Amino acid sequence: MQQIHLFKKLLLKPQKTVITTHHKPDADALGSSLGLAGVLKKLGHEVSVITPSDYPDFLAWMYGNEEVINFENNNQDKAKKLVSEAELIFCLDFNCLKRINSLGEQVDKAGAIKILIDHHLEPDHFANYEFWDVSAAATCQIIYNLIEELELLDLMDTQIAECLYAGIMTDTGQFKHPNTTKEVHLVSAKLIDHGVDVSKVSNLIYDNNSIDRLRFTGYIISQKMTVNAELNTTYFVISASDLKKFRSKTGDTEGVVNYGLSIRGMVLSVLIIEREDGVKLSMRSRGEFSVNEFARKYFNGGGHRNAAGGSSELSLADTVNKFEKLILEHKDALSLKFNI
Ligand code: 5GP
Ligand code: MN
Repeated sequence: MQQIHLFKKLLLKPQKTVITTHHKPDADALGSSLGLAGVLKKLGHEVSVITPSDYPDFLAWMYGNEEVINFENNNQDKAKKLVSEAELIFCLDFNCLKRINSLGEQVDKAGAIKILIDHHLEPDHFANYEFWDVSAAATCQIIYNLIEELELLDLMDTQIAECLYAGIMTDTGQFKHPNTTKEVHLVSAKLIDHGVDVSKVSNLIYDNNSIDRLRFTGYIISQKMTVNAELNTTYFVISASDLKKFRSKTGDTEGVVNYGLSIRGMVLSVLIIEREDGVKLSMRSRGEFSVNEFARKYFNGGGHRNAAGGSSELSLADTVNKFEKLILEHKDALSLKFNI
């Protein structure tokens, strides 16, 4: 029997289900989780969405948000119990268990049937079912296609459609990154048919800033940006004290890295941040330069060719030194300006 038929059979029987997604969920991670949760609940499943950490306030409007269990804050024992007793565990928008921190150990040892639904490069094969499609711009797009293939579209409603639309809108950078295909627009159009108000979703995510956040963005660009014109690289370095000074909250620095690539000809932009749990890097590139490979090889991370992330165990200053040496080593790949 084809995987999809077996999977459909599996879903038609209501079960104890856990949905989880990556550390610091973005709109695609949370939108795919809550969108899928909405459909599975209508099928009669007992669904818990567990995130490994908190997520930005600008995602809190999503349907089902109040029920999300944050593994960091809420009752960890409750989350552990849900994972160990689950019959199905969905892993959405991540490709290796270390992306869900210590929740990964719980998922790894759980006896449930595991289902990976993801669009990142090079996943670890820890799941029983894999719906993995790197050609999809967003996990939300895969979820929509899956619901369609499973002939469950009658369970789609506006609230679920809004969650899925949000993930597609953000992972395509508002329909402008190279992953914005005809299929992306077709799925988005179908979601609009289900009642999505595109302007509302866009406002909820992009025009919901605190004053601190906007001022912080201005500060980062004016004071914390280094441009290496020879290597077509822009990078921003943010210390823990900068975060404190601007009362930075989860999600406040999301999107800042993209400004680096808005400079004409730039190939690489990197945001280096000193977080409580270590130094994190967020990377974007244009053209052939693969930040997935760069993050994977040097910063214990990964992602997509043009958008990836990683971390460093070194201090902030040493991480910056390491990064500066590395870009010099990649001079050949970086010195060719990106031509539009
Ligand atoms: P962002 O820079 O927006 O945090 O992440 C860009 C992309 O890289 C996202 O698809 C995200 O899931 C992925 N990513 C971010 N950080 C990491 C990491 O530490 N490890 C891996 N494997 N992927 C990451
Ligand atoms: Mn995604």
